[in-house]
Amino acid sequence: MPVSTFLVPSHLMLQLLTAAAPAPAPQAAPALPVAERLVGAALTEGHAWTRLAELTDGVGARLSGSEGAAAAVQWALRSFKADGVKAWLEPVKVPHWVRGEERAELLGSERFRGRPLSVMALGGSGATPPEGVTGEVVEVRSLEELGALGERVKGRIVLFNHIMQKPEDYGRFASLRSRGPAAAAKAGAVAALVRSLATASLATPHTGATRFEEGDPRIAAASVTVEDAELLSRLVAAGGPVRVKLVLGCQELPDADSFNVVAEVKGREKPQEVVLLGAHLDSWDVGTGAHDDGAGVVMVMEAARLLAKQRPAPRRTVRVVLFMNEENGLRGARAYAEAHAAELPRHVAALELDSGGGRPVGVVLRAGAGAAEKVRPWLSPLRTVGAGALMEGEAGGADLIPLMPARVPFFGLRQDASRYFDVHHTHADTLDKVDPVALAQSTAAVTWLAYAMAEMPELLPRPEVPTPSAGH
Ligand SMILES: [Zn+2]
Repeated sequence: MPVSTFLVPSHLMLQLLTAAAPAPAPQAAPALPVAERLVGAALTEGHAWTRLAELTDGVGARLSGSEGAAAAVQWALRSFKADGVKAWLEPVKVPHWVRGEERAELLGSERFRGRPLSVMALGGSGATPPEGVTGEVVEVRSLEELGALGERVKGRIVLFNHIMQKPEDYGRFASLRSRGPAAAAKAGAVAALVRSLATASLATPHTGATRFEEGDPRIAAASVTVEDAELLSRLVAAGGPVRVKLVLGCQELPDADSFNVVAEVKGREKPQEVVLLGAHLDSWDVGTGAHDDGAGVVMVMEAARLLAKQRPAPRRTVRVVLFMNEENGLRGARAYAEAHAAELPRHVAALELDSGGGRPVGVVLRAGAGAAEKVRPWLSPLRTVGAGALMEGEAGGADLIPLMPARVPFFGLRQDASRYFDVHHTHADTLDKVDPVALAQSTAAVTWLAYAMAEMPELLPRPEVPTPSAGH
């Protein structure tokens, strides 16, 4: 079915917007005709979806350092130019990790028959010797449990198990993947298996980054499916040894040259003040990163295209940054903050879209006291797409972390992410999982939000510098 079938005809937009909007607040009246143009175009033209198809089906997977990532950079630059948006590349050195052979086997015993396990190396994992490593499985459910095992981890394969069920659990258990394998290695483990961070599983392993510090032993670390984690857990609980053989052939190649792609719509009155719209251009090497973060990329690109056509231009400059290497290093985010350090005090608002292509549900902020009152009058045009409410919770994004010391205010679009972790970091993160209507609605919302931030008469108050313990 053609995408346009789903979308709202533009002649209905003004009616919808007018019907939904109360009398605008006197000091900050957002111009309804502008809202109609921006929101209407995002909802009706289907341009973000077309771009997402180019990026996912055309360019494909784009892990940092890969040919796909290089192709994505050129695609983005070309696309901005085709859209009439000024764009350029800013260099960044990125890690270049590559996946190799990967297989695992549950070795049979007198209690159970052996069988293959479905595994996927975690980004940053070390390799096994070609013949693999074999060890007895020891299960832990937290880093504290691992610490308590002490000597008993030596020579073992540590299974990091957990009970992720809903999207909000991701933050709760992600450190098992990011820090568990390194901690297991230090304790003498020969390999680590991490239960996939997933809200659903059809025997699907989910990859993701794991971190080894310089000089740490770098063992093989792989994700296992929810089903296999449950199986291993049951067999271990039943007593008696459970042995697994793991073969991983991944490699860390020398750092590669890459780029952040930056684009800009100059402000009419205060061009030196920057509203930053971010998303990350890299993806994992499996699937095509449709939700993570192709959707974010095409939404901020579309916001730039529509704002570039807006006359008069918004008061401030809107800058789009497609960060490289969010997934396994944040090098692009750090490179941007360093290269633009001098102008960060004039970054007046920043957003990152990195929660997939779901429908918009509301707006969040991370700013100083009084920000909500300044923003609220600008949200009425978002009611037509269901995102007119200012919500609890803080705006943020991994690529925005390096902007925090400069006290850059953040704004964010909350989206429906209820299915996001079903396919996150898997072979199944593909275009068919993205709903064109939801993508268009979120595109409309972010386009209007960007306009509002760039046009509001007053600036958002800047937040406090986070205390050191609040990071990561
Ligand atoms: Zn992401």
